[in-house]
Amino acid sequence: MTATCLMTTYQPLDLGFVKGLGTRLWDQGGREYLDAVAGVAVTNVGHSHPRLVNAISEQAGLLLHTSNLYTIDWQQRLAQRLAGLSGMDRVFFSNSGAEANETALKLARLHAWHRGIEQPLVVVMENAFHGRTLGTLSASDGPAVRLGYNALPGDFIKVPFGDLQILHSIARSHGQRICAVLMEPIQGEGGVQLPPPGYLKAVRDLCKRRSWLLMLDEIQTGVGRTGQWFAFQREGIVPDVMTLAKGLGNGIPIGACLARGKAAQLFTPGSHGSTFGGNPLACRVGCTVLDIIEEQALVSNARRQGDRLLARLQEALGQHRQVVAIRGRGLMIGIELKEPIRDLALIAAREQGVLINVTRGKTIRLLPPLTIDAAEVEMIVAGVCGALAAACSAAEAKAVAV
Ligand SMILES: *Cc1c(COP(=O)(O)O)cnc(C)c1O
Repeated sequence: MTATCLMTTYQPLDLGFVKGLGTRLWDQGGREYLDAVAGVAVTNVGHSHPRLVNAISEQAGLLLHTSNLYTIDWQQRLAQRLAGLSGMDRVFFSNSGAEANETALKLARLHAWHRGIEQPLVVVMENAFHGRTLGTLSASDGPAVRLGYNALPGDFIKVPFGDLQILHSIARSHGQRICAVLMEPIQGEGGVQLPPPGYLKAVRDLCKRRSWLLMLDEIQTGVGRTGQWFAFQREGIVPDVMTLAKGLGNGIPIGACLARGKAAQLFTPGSHGSTFGGNPLACRVGCTVLDIIEEQALVSNARRQGDRLLARLQEALGQHRQVVAIRGRGLMIGIELKEPIRDLALIAAREQGVLINVTRGKTIRLLPPLTIDAAEVEMIVAGVCGALAAACSAAEAKAVAV
């Protein structure tokens, strides 16, 4: 199908699906695929989960939207559940990850305002991704997403991810103007980058000492993905602000900004809002997603199958001449390649029937649903190995021909 009426923001593969169930997708021709992308860490409980299908259809027949002029029971319930799971105090609901991060950035501004900081700065990380609004884009890194938008708000100061020394020296040089640190606990779009052990804890301590808000973007890592409810829980810390989206709605748009302590008290009526945010459908879906994760013990499954997948990939590909590193946590795994390999995702789909993602040109990213079992782990390993072998031999054949 040609997409001539669509703006050219995407370069979709020549591949589309008409049906999904659990970990599987089917294309128009009826071919089955194992989904190791999950719509970029979104469909964490799998496609067409019967409990979600039921919740969505029942809620559609009852009530979709009334606005935040009125109380919304499902919104209250979801906020309470998320607060209980995370140790945060309060929640603001939006419709996407970028909006959740915009909310966090507005909290940082209010925090600065209360402290009398006139030109506040937010510390962000090199290689970060926080969204596509002008604000969140300014907090993100990389020419591909920023090129051409030169009128970006200049309220950010960028430091290398994982480098404590530079962070401390920034604190000395700009400390009076800094009001917050915004970062991903594990960088997702940046190629599944893990900080060195102890880094998050040290950032937490610094933020506390300096009265900066620690704002963790858990939009990709949250809701069970890394084998914890939230990635920060493995570090023995609690942030002041945390953002969620992707896996919380399993495909129904929802974003959430959670805050704790003073940060949870910064908004006042009228200081922020959203028409759709926190509507009964999205919040009921969020509650149902949490129910499913709890009942099917998917957080521990993500940890167990993630450990297995990482170990099996290391066994199978650790010595591969194209593989530089294999890393990840839970079911968020990256395989960094020496050089970009063209059409790798398409080759994996076409020849192996396994959907994989390639980010920043040369890192294979695996983000399967949290429901996968041991047999599916083997299918993913076989799919990645097969696709790499096919792509490498195609590239070599081409090189010989030239
Ligand atoms: C996907 C993502 C976002 C942006 O979410 P949208 O819903 O696309 O706006 C922000 N931060 C991180 C870490 C993400 O992975």
